[in-house]
Amino acid sequence: MNCRICNDNKLEKFLSLGDSPLANSFLRKEELDNNELYFPLELCFCSNCSLVQLSYIVDPKVMFKNYLYVSSTSNSFRQHFSHMSRDIVNRFRLDTGSLAVDIGSNDGILLKGFKGFGISVIGVEPAENVSRIAQEQGIDTINSFFNEEVVQNIIKNKGKADIVTACNVFAHIDDISSVVENVKKLLKDEGVYIIEVQYILRTLEDMTFDNIYHEHLSYYSLTALKYFFESHGMSIFDVEEVNTHGGSIRVFVQKKRGNNQASSRINEMLEHEIKKGLDKLDAYLEFAKRVYLIRDKIVSYVNGLKAENKSISGYGAPAKSSTLLNFCKIGKDKIDYIIDDSSLKTGLYTPGTHIPIVSSEKLDMDTPDCIIILAWNFAEEILKKTEKFANKGVRFIIPLPEPKMI
Ligand SMILES: [Zn+2]
Repeated sequence: MNCRICNDNKLEKFLSLGDSPLANSFLRKEELDNNELYFPLELCFCSNCSLVQLSYIVDPKVMFKNYLYVSSTSNSFRQHFSHMSRDIVNRFRLDTGSLAVDIGSNDGILLKGFKGFGISVIGVEPAENVSRIAQEQGIDTINSFFNEEVVQNIIKNKGKADIVTACNVFAHIDDISSVVENVKKLLKDEGVYIIEVQYILRTLEDMTFDNIYHEHLSYYSLTALKYFFESHGMSIFDVEEVNTHGGSIRVFVQKKRGNNQASSRINEMLEHEIKKGLDKLDAYLEFAKRVYLIRDKIVSYVNGLKAENKSISGYGAPAKSSTLLNFCKIGKDKIDYIIDDSSLKTGLYTPGTHIPIVSSEKLDMDTPDCIIILAWNFAEEILKKTEKFANKGVRFIIPLPEPKMI
């Protein structure tokens, strides 16, 4: 396999999370006996452009068939995107004549904010079920992958865009070159392309390796993104860290003719990345070593509880819980059920590990001895919701960033 950004053919493998089913392919009861598809989940590093990427790419048609992730079910996400739309509108002085296009618009979570300011919006979303939810809420959404045809269609009907956004989707796309070429066609000359991607430095420093799954093909540093956009005649003019998905960066990109001044934050972040060794394989090998140690610690907590005949439930079944459970080989023999607050997931079973997903009433009917918070980035929210169980003596495992039992 060649590097997605620079086409170099000397990718170096540094971490294996084993063979794993697709993190989002939750199963219906009648599917439990079917043969599940497993794919290698391994990361490699390109020493030429510094991109970290998966060694094996699953066909996107298989991956996005049953996409169950609905952004707006989380309060924190709703807030994040509402602030984001407000900041963009103010900074780039958007008005009722402006057009904002969101790639991978999910249920319209970001576009709702823009629309509230009277700005024209269009979402592009490949998953049929979530794009239907957006449509039903009045967010104009094209159910498709982002491609040339979609771009021509938008330009014909609405003109060129002032703002194109892509939040937590840039990592999902194999052919990022054709996406950015299409973005260039869609944007006005002075238009701005804003992406949010999971930040590899946060993954390394905060040990958020459960964000590694087949849908995330690339794991970006600013160093790699700079190489990428410059190779397509675009430039990054600002960057900021945001706290979604265990730590991401929001990157502001413009065409060569764009009129935004480059922020000093760019060089500061690039220098910091070099200092942290993000341009060298060693930093990644060190990360892998720590990942294996954390797995051992989580497994020993769970095995310790089971040895005392304690019952364990999970809280939260985000995609990343699939990585954690499969990598740690923690299945239905260890965890009786998982609570999830998304009604789309209740009644389903976790991929590979086959743990039933239920609604939160189950905690009252069948209170466990311990709850492992799989959606650990919402640990605070979840601990608040489950306070009465803590008061009754239920213990909690927060698996990451550093496994702890409270
Ligand atoms: Zn490369």
